[in-house]
Amino acid sequence: MRPLLHPSLVNGRFGDPALFVETLHQRSALLFDMGDLTPLSARDLLRVSHAFISHTHIDHFIGFDALLRLAVGREKRVTMVGPAGFAARIYHKLQGYEWDLVDRYDADLVFDVSELYAPARARRTRFRFKNAFRREQEEELGISNAIVAEESGIRVEAAILDHHGPCLGFAVAEPAHANVWKNRVDERGLPTGQWLQALKRAVIEGKPGDHPIMLADGSTEALGALRDLVTITQGQKIAYVTDVADTPNNRAAIVKLAQGADTLFIESRFAAADREQAQQRAHLTTTAAGEIARAAGVRKVEPFHFSPRYAGEEERMLKEVASAFHK
Ligand SMILES: [Zn+2]
Ligand SMILES: [Zn+2]
Repeated sequence: MRPLLHPSLVNGRFGDPALFVETLHQRSALLFDMGDLTPLSARDLLRVSHAFISHTHIDHFIGFDALLRLAVGREKRVTMVGPAGFAARIYHKLQGYEWDLVDRYDADLVFDVSELYAPARARRTRFRFKNAFRREQEEELGISNAIVAEESGIRVEAAILDHHGPCLGFAVAEPAHANVWKNRVDERGLPTGQWLQALKRAVIEGKPGDHPIMLADGSTEALGALRDLVTITQGQKIAYVTDVADTPNNRAAIVKLAQGADTLFIESRFAAADREQAQQRAHLTTTAAGEIARAAGVRKVEPFHFSPRYAGEEERMLKEVASAFHK
């Protein structure tokens, strides 16, 4: 099964943080952080349906204006998720412009902004172009299992981490795939057909063994007796973590969030030898990033957000991460 999610760092390992994630079969794309977005084409930027912002330091958020400039006057909705205080930042950015001509447009641009201000609590605010981006529809949301967004089976989880203030880490996972063993269906003398879709769904959703499945002839059988007709393949998972202090709490939260990910994008602002400075600035070293990736059991680690002081030393930085990861 080809992976659905195709991530790329918009500005490489040294530039402003921004991870563009294309989803195969879908026109939409996800963004994790919005540093400088100028390398993205207008076409790609307009595909962004969801943007997840770790925190609003300028190197992670300056690109919002690029998206705004391009999307104004078009029919578009963008779901945005950020930490406590996020909606106010967006409001002030939007109110930095004059919107007196909005009546001349038919198309509406909508930002649905959620701020995760406590582990299971979020507040959503809507800002609409046609309403001159005033605050609308503020409402409280209950968050279960850390899931801050879900669409077409693709789920995004968030964890509140600690930088200078709260900073969100994210993990995006595609849905699990269920495959039917055609030979086993035949051996049981069962016909193929639509009922197998219901069977696959029930297995993916983890329904109990006594859950009834309706067969092609209208009779029902318990899920437990049919489960061996289907195998489950876990979907691809990508985690994105940046701007975090090296603390035991952060380490534990990142390991939980990124557990078993196929790829972990993780900041490595400082080289191993500059551990003290990393601590002062509430960032990770290459060694810390590699150790966390190893503890989370990820398949691949992609370090980024290298400080410009290491320009020309990318190989050294990668080696330091790799040696902690493979230790
Ligand atoms: Zn920061
Ligand atoms: Zn940063």
